Amino acid sequence: MTSSSQRPVLVLFRDDFRLTDNPALHAACATGQPVLCATVQDEACMPGGVIGWWLAQAAQALTTALHNYGGPLLAPHGETLPVVLDLVKSFQVTDVFWNRRYDPTGTKIDTDLKAALTEHGVTVHSLSARLLHEPWAVRTGAGQPYRIFTAWWRAARELGDPGRPLPAPPTIEFAPIPKPFKKNLAPAALLQPTLPNDATEAKKYWPCSEEDARTSLDNFLEDTLEQYETSRDRPDQEGTSGLSPYLRAGLISPRQVWHAARQAQARSGDHANTEKFLSELCWRDFGWMQLFYQPDMPTRNLRSEFDQMPWQNDAEAFTAWKEGRTGYPLVDAGMRELLATGTMHNRVRMVVASFLTKHLLTDWRKGERWFYERLVDADPALNAMNWQWCAGTGIDASPWFRIFNPVGQSEKFDPSGAYIRTWVPELTALPDKLIHTPWKIDAALSRHLRFVPGTTYPHPIVDLKQARAIALESYKNLKTV
Ligand SMILES: Cc1cc2nc3c(=O)[nH]c(=O)nc-3n(C[C@H](O)[C@H](O)[C@H](O)COP(=O)(O)OP(=O)(O)OC[C@H]3O[C@@H](n4cnc5c(N)ncnc54)[C@H](O)[C@@H]3O)c2cc1C
Repeated sequence: MTSSSQRPVLVLFRDDFRLTDNPALHAACATGQPVLCATVQDEACMPGGVIGWWLAQAAQALTTALHNYGGPLLAPHGETLPVVLDLVKSFQVTDVFWNRRYDPTGTKIDTDLKAALTEHGVTVHSLSARLLHEPWAVRTGAGQPYRIFTAWWRAARELGDPGRPLPAPPTIEFAPIPKPFKKNLAPAALLQPTLPNDATEAKKYWPCSEEDARTSLDNFLEDTLEQYETSRDRPDQEGTSGLSPYLRAGLISPRQVWHAARQAQARSGDHANTEKFLSELCWRDFGWMQLFYQPDMPTRNLRSEFDQMPWQNDAEAFTAWKEGRTGYPLVDAGMRELLATGTMHNRVRMVVASFLTKHLLTDWRKGERWFYERLVDADPALNAMNWQWCAGTGIDASPWFRIFNPVGQSEKFDPSGAYIRTWVPELTALPDKLIHTPWKIDAALSRHLRFVPGTTYPHPIVDLKQARAIALESYKNLKTV
């Protein structure tokens, strides 16, 4: 029998593919026992689509990072509980460490796993790393979860800055891997989900490592933070951090982002832009709090009166929306950006979601699923919360009668059409004043530019005024049901 100080401890990595600010890894190393690093490839926790590809890239990046420390990542396949019990028995593991998750599937798996491990005499250490504030940490005076973000944010601010991020462990003493387990070693054992063929730009847009995440953060703090309040709404500018895919895969932690922003603030003396950025970062916590308390948020209208909504769900219109062929340039640019890169600017996400649910009267759940399949930052809590926000069906949501006009939004936030021209090349030659309304081109210019509305670029699939009136009428009737 191996003495308990030589028996290993196990760290499980799940959407926290990093060495810095990783409390589970940090605490495992602090035991002084050999460390076994593993990620279980459990189908129940492995989404498909672009996010599936991205998480596999992140696991690959962690493999490389651990190799640089001189050790391996185990990546066994199968259901988490039997796989972990097998590792624990085979390696005589004394303790298992993980960072907590808050989605319904992950929470259930971890609860069952903790019970089984405890029964086997193994000590479980579950730590807080994914959020700045865990779902239950910020509550109303009556002990209830908040329903309004501004109230949540005010209460969260009173708790002060979150704890400082942890450094990467200086060294890791890895447990040796016996021969029968070599087949489980990453990278060979890692599944390699492929990108959809039309996601042509995703690899170029999203280099995947902890260092890449840090570079994005540093560049943002250096070049953009000081104008964030205004630049964040401009899809034609590099006005946001681009951190969401890195936060999603845990290549960077929210505490690292928070404290780096605070340091930048101390250097510059800026207040308003940093506060705005930190509050946006906290919408992430607010979304996770909502999912934790309402695990069916991705499928259920949080405001039940919308269960009666007479969605039209026109299949052709939905396809045109998905493919970026609605005839509204900003909508089409956004949807094509999503297809090619796996992302879309936040302002444009709001415009396309409003257009789908209100002008096309399509159930928000269809849009939510499509985004989940194609976003590189697809996140069960943030995607569902934001779709319900845009559709007016959520708590603290945009009211139904707030219907974004895709032409007005385009003129305001992409005035010269630079963003539209990037993603809708058939509009490139149009003058700025027509880029938002190409159907208004006159015959002479149409001939001169060889731009034929309806041929070169689709006619608008709905009349905005008429569609808006129908949307408002549907909602009015709904309230009287
Ligand atoms: C319909 C719709 C669907 C969305 N789906 C997702 C999703 O699946 N995954 C996702 O990460 N974000 C989602 N968002 C939120 C937002 O669009 C992205 O977080 C943002 O575009 C990411 O870009 P950034 O990192 O440059 O943001 P920045 O402006 O630099 O913000 C920094 C961080 O704050 C957080 N954040 C910013 N805006 C929001 C927001 N509205 N809600 C919650 N957190 C926010 C993100 O973690 C982001 O990385 C969605 C928004 C809409 C309108």
